Amino acid sequence: MEFKAVRGTKDILPDTVKVWQYIEGKAKKILECYGYQEIRTPIFEETNLFVRGIGETTDIVSKEMYTFLDKKGRSLTLRPEGTAPVVRAYIEHRLDTRGSPIRLYYFGPMFRYERPQAGRQRQFWQLGIEVLGTSHPSIDAEVIDMTMYLLQELGLNELEVQINSVGCGVCRPRYKEALIRYLSPFFKDLCKSCKEKLSRNPMRILDCKVCFDLKISSPVMIEFLCDRCKDHFEGVKEYLDMLEVTFILKPHLVRGLDYYTNTCFEIIDKNLGAQDAVCAGGRYDGLVEEFGGKPTPAFGASAGIERIIVALEKQGVDVPSSTKVDVYFATIGSRVKKKVFSLVKDLRKKDISTIFEWNDKSLKASLREANRLRSRFVVIIGDTELNRNQAILKDMETGEQKEISLSGLVNVISNLLRRGCK
Ligand SMILES: [Zn+2]
Ligand SMILES: [Zn+2]
Repeated sequence: MEFKAVRGTKDILPDTVKVWQYIEGKAKKILECYGYQEIRTPIFEETNLFVRGIGETTDIVSKEMYTFLDKKGRSLTLRPEGTAPVVRAYIEHRLDTRGSPIRLYYFGPMFRYERPQAGRQRQFWQLGIEVLGTSHPSIDAEVIDMTMYLLQELGLNELEVQINSVGCGVCRPRYKEALIRYLSPFFKDLCKSCKEKLSRNPMRILDCKVCFDLKISSPVMIEFLCDRCKDHFEGVKEYLDMLEVTFILKPHLVRGLDYYTNTCFEIIDKNLGAQDAVCAGGRYDGLVEEFGGKPTPAFGASAGIERIIVALEKQGVDVPSSTKVDVYFATIGSRVKKKVFSLVKDLRKKDISTIFEWNDKSLKASLREANRLRSRFVVIIGDTELNRNQAILKDMETGEQKEISLSGLVNVISNLLRRGCK
């Protein structure tokens, strides 16, 4: 029997994992620099958390969730997104008492049953950011600026920030009415799923790729904003200007989830084609209350790691490897190996990554292996060297070779690496 990874899942092999470590490393550094703290929530939650938080009528909840009954008959779901679990944790652990606003980020796998495509798997990874406890428009701008900065630091330079406002519970109903009025004469032209959306959630039609043409001259939300929403949106634009973030207004930009209010945004990468959003997010002032918490305004964003990786590849960004081998031991014969084996531990304790093989290899094969591992130095010891308590140190970058005493080996290598060879 031959096993394979399940459709829609992928192994991240050592060659590729360096790209992941690169993204994770940069994200952690930049987000913590902006004062964000990491949160890790479970992979699965009660199914109702997502039904309530994302909305029953969304594609995610109605078609794409990995839902199962556990042995006690409880309905559980592999998390399809990260915001609902973070909000659940925020309320459960009273995180509002630990600072207001509280700035959080997470990094982890999400699960959605979708048709696998380039940059989108059924198990996919997201970097998410959530700020809870403030409605101040500067936070919307801060998160947009921070994610933009991160993507640029990763090496992407064909990015565009698109923003819109989806209003609030006061002004949105008036807009929905206008939209229904505008779309109703075109009812027969709508796709099957949009026909269902028209009366219940007409804004979702703006998101439909099939019914694209219909929306071009439809009424837009920003013309219906109430005074509070208008002020907020003006504020966001002002703070983005202060942070020198260039953005364009996309009056038809909406989010597929029910809990969004006010600002919504996307960062697209122009190299990506149809699936071009590398980061998306917005304000969700109603969700904490929806989950039974105190009314708490919030703003969040998430970025798909697989899609960022596709974008990095398309742009040919050269990702540095974070794994390194400093020293490879080419020792000949078991007498030599037994004698010098303990040196390996001394090197590792000095934070010098070292590889030692007990299998006998010819010197030529050892050097080939050291090359493949991109080892910085090779230590060559045969019987002749051992008898004189010496080793040959070969610098793989310059090809230079020199004899050093075995007793001084650790110090010599340690000093060479410290001098900027690392
Ligand atoms: Zn409003
Ligand atoms: Zn449609």
